[in-house]
Amino acid sequence: MIIASDIDQTLVEYFEPFIKFNNEVHGTNLKREDMDTVDISELLGVSKEEAIRRMDEFHQTNYFKNIMPIKGSQEGVDDIKKRGHKLVAITARPINIAKYTIECLEKFYPGRLSGVYHSSKNGSRKHQICLDIGIGWIIEDRLDYANECASVGINVLLLDYHWNQSEILCDGITRVKSWEEIKNILKKEDQ
Ligand SMILES: [Mg+2]
Repeated sequence: MIIASDIDQTLVEYFEPFIKFNNEVHGTNLKREDMDTVDISELLGVSKEEAIRRMDEFHQTNYFKNIMPIKGSQEGVDDIKKRGHKLVAITARPINIAKYTIECLEKFYPGRLSGVYHSSKNGSRKHQICLDIGIGWIIEDRLDYANECASVGINVLLLDYHWNQSEILCDGITRVKSWEEIKNILKKEDQ
């Protein structure tokens, strides 16, 4: 089986250093627990253009270059590999930081990934990439991507965060609290 994972907030912690960067460099007073959106312009209260500029600036700093893996993700990824599955990463990150993205994945998940796909390339969408490469399951933290994937029959493991809360979830989406839970669900799927 081919399993996909998003990168930010599923494999690596992006928002913690992004918040720290904004607070320390731009004098904001953001708190992790206030994050109920993944829309950076809404989060920072700035225009879309300024939000993109702020992210570009963040990507040039060591706050970004020293990001860390999500708790339990390295063991979880090892487990997927041990069970004989293939794991690919599918990300909406901009292509201009692909070098850092790949270096970072290689640092924390050496030799574990069979491919890294950028949905920002050619205006593609995550669910389309999943269909193209035959993904059975995807690990994701954004509700919009989760819904799109589920709507075309891909099983989604949605890592629980403030920003992806919803009264009801589409069929095919399972909310999970940790990589431990992801591991157990995928293990059951093998039996
Ligand atoms: Mg993400």
